[in-house]
Amino acid sequence: MITDKRWDHRNERRIFDRWQSEELYRLRLGRGKKAFIIDTPPPYPSGAWHIGAVAHYSQIDMIARTGRMLGNPVLFPIGIDRNGLPVELFTENKYKVKMREIPREKFIELCRTALDGLESEMIETMKNIGLSGDYAGKYRTDQEEYRRLTQSTFIELWKRGLIYETTRPNNYCPDCGTTIADAEVVYEELPTRLVHVKFTVRETGEPLIIATTRPELICACQLVIVNPTDERYLALHGKHAILPLYKREVEIKPHPSARPEFGTGAVMICSYGDYTDVLLFRELGLAEILATDQDGRLTRAAGPYQGLSVPEARAKIVQDLESTGLLAKTESISHRTPVCSRSKTPIEIIPMREYYLKQLDYLPKLKQLAKKMTFHPDANRQILIDWINSVTLDWPISRRRFYATEIPVWYCKSCGTPFVPPPGPYYRPWRDPPPSGRCSKCGSTEFEGDTRTFDTWMDSSISALFVSKYGRDSKFFKRNYPVTIRPQGKDIVRTWLHYSILRCYQLTERAPFARAWISGLGMDERGEAMHKSKGNVVDPIPILEKYGADAFRFWNASEAAHGSDFRCSESRIAGAHKFLTKLWNISRFISSFPQVREARLMASDKWILSELAILVEKSLAGYRQFDFFIPTSEVRDFVWETFASHYLEMVKARAYGQGFSKDQQRAAWHTLHTVLKTVLLLLAPIMPFIVDEIWRQLYSKTSIHVQRFPKPGWPKTYKRYTEPMLAFNREVWKVKEERNLTLRDPLEMQVPKSLAVFRDDLTKMHSLIASSS
Ligand SMILES: [Zn+2]
Ligand SMILES: [Zn+2]
Repeated sequence: MITDKRWDHRNERRIFDRWQSEELYRLRLGRGKKAFIIDTPPPYPSGAWHIGAVAHYSQIDMIARTGRMLGNPVLFPIGIDRNGLPVELFTENKYKVKMREIPREKFIELCRTALDGLESEMIETMKNIGLSGDYAGKYRTDQEEYRRLTQSTFIELWKRGLIYETTRPNNYCPDCGTTIADAEVVYEELPTRLVHVKFTVRETGEPLIIATTRPELICACQLVIVNPTDERYLALHGKHAILPLYKREVEIKPHPSARPEFGTGAVMICSYGDYTDVLLFRELGLAEILATDQDGRLTRAAGPYQGLSVPEARAKIVQDLESTGLLAKTESISHRTPVCSRSKTPIEIIPMREYYLKQLDYLPKLKQLAKKMTFHPDANRQILIDWINSVTLDWPISRRRFYATEIPVWYCKSCGTPFVPPPGPYYRPWRDPPPSGRCSKCGSTEFEGDTRTFDTWMDSSISALFVSKYGRDSKFFKRNYPVTIRPQGKDIVRTWLHYSILRCYQLTERAPFARAWISGLGMDERGEAMHKSKGNVVDPIPILEKYGADAFRFWNASEAAHGSDFRCSESRIAGAHKFLTKLWNISRFISSFPQVREARLMASDKWILSELAILVEKSLAGYRQFDFFIPTSEVRDFVWETFASHYLEMVKARAYGQGFSKDQQRAAWHTLHTVLKTVLLLLAPIMPFIVDEIWRQLYSKTSIHVQRFPKPGWPKTYKRYTEPMLAFNREVWKVKEERNLTLRDPLEMQVPKSLAVFRDDLTKMHSLIASSS
């Protein structure tokens, strides 16, 4: 019997602690059984947790709970991604330091301290939202064991010739001070000045106007192109243009890359304004002129602008062009600008010497694997396929950063040949003495360590290997790899998903997981992305405190179909909270009746069990697809409508024994408890706290979370009555309302013949009296 009048969500933490002390979610792997392993995204602690992320992890917990209730031994790893830029930027901000201005050891120390604080807040939130994860086995991507794995897999691929070092123009973020991969570049529409500059045609002396958003790169111009079909410039093919200010000459060539509708149709090609420049320099074998350096400043090639930052140089050169009469006009345009996905800085394209992991040779295979993998929802497979189709470069994997896994390479001091140590230990070449050995080329024993680190996706792309104990427990790995499911957001398909399949395939010749579960992103109330600058960020912590995790989780699961973006709004979460109150009230009401094992059911009982069987079927279909929108909305509609509004009202009198036989009363009791138990089980993955509390108060000393899903084991034959019965009830309520009667007031009305089997319950429910005529 439930005595508390209200469900108090402050009980959630007590319930969570009980789960922990009971070790409810420990992986219990029977002999020969394969574990259901979730390749949990290890979150980045780099500041306050976004509400969308909290929602995302709540849903991953639903995957874990679904896996268990479907009868699997589940491993739900809790990992924290502690490598890389976001952490470094957070640390620089927090301690007001610059990474390159303090000793590397000291900076690493500060990162670690900052991380520990952020991590413990994050773990608290994970517990507060009820994540049934493996906290005891928590891993960190910066722990030695993990970094060792990253390094040893690098060494393995190095030996197989899949890694090479070369200098090529690459995306470079001056703020982060490092090369970044195409996958880390995003495009933003930024307001820019389009500057129309006067060049001169050498042969004729006529002016040639060229529009550019990068006038500071005129010094690096090696060619002017016009579209071959552009009639305005037919006469200029093969002639030469004199650069303004610098007076150097370059050729004017027809080339299809020039778009006649952009600017004046004539385009300057310089090293490097954009990817078209890179391709043309390569295609035509032009000599590159480096105009910007690694700090984002202009080089000597820029003459008077040397040392200025890109924006400074741009402003200055526009001034100079104007004062010398070389500026035709400027216009404000919105320009699709490539920016660094982490710092949002416009990137520069600079040639840098970096390590690359081969991926171009693997693209056909990756596409094949992507086609074979199960995607939830299926439509999101296309995001990956589109990305694979667009990849044109190998993956640059070296970064000029500090807080990440070190590249385990030394170089011969006399001839520069790389020396790669054997896999196994964790190497820090910037600090550690070189391993003993001889240069393979010149025999020297003097080495110098690489100071660079890996792109952090090199670490996180092998999380599936780490959680399946690759290289640590071959028996476990053999049995459990590929893992079961990779849940992740659709914003990191081209990075995490793509790189994971690439890396794990290269190492194991298999895809790392059988299923990819790709969720949408959390937006604000109006469906717009949340940004600190927009002031529309919703903080999840006060919301969780106010409404509790169950309400939050129920809201999130019912907010949008799996895979779609969802809107975060407090009022909707408050609405979800009402369902919990309803569930508690219903449970309290039912708890006042005894549980009876068997009973001779009446028609109304058979009817609600038919509906219940259908509910179980539909919900399980949703659960099997890990689409929690389906069970959540189905159960909500059933509980509010079919069950509470109709069935409960129909059997209230019978449950209290008013005017019914003992047998009939027992049938009501039996059915009420059967429905409640089933509903609790169906809600267990969604709102784990409240259902466990009700379950233990009413049905068992052990948790609901060791139960399986219910089976739809009732005949569905009475389903045919649903529509006429609901219609009849609504009709009665309408008539009473029209006549200003309360629901209990008697009414002269006949139960229709089609519903004759329900006559006793319906008559009581509506206080119907036979007509006197
Ligand atoms: Zn950046
Ligand atoms: Zn050497």
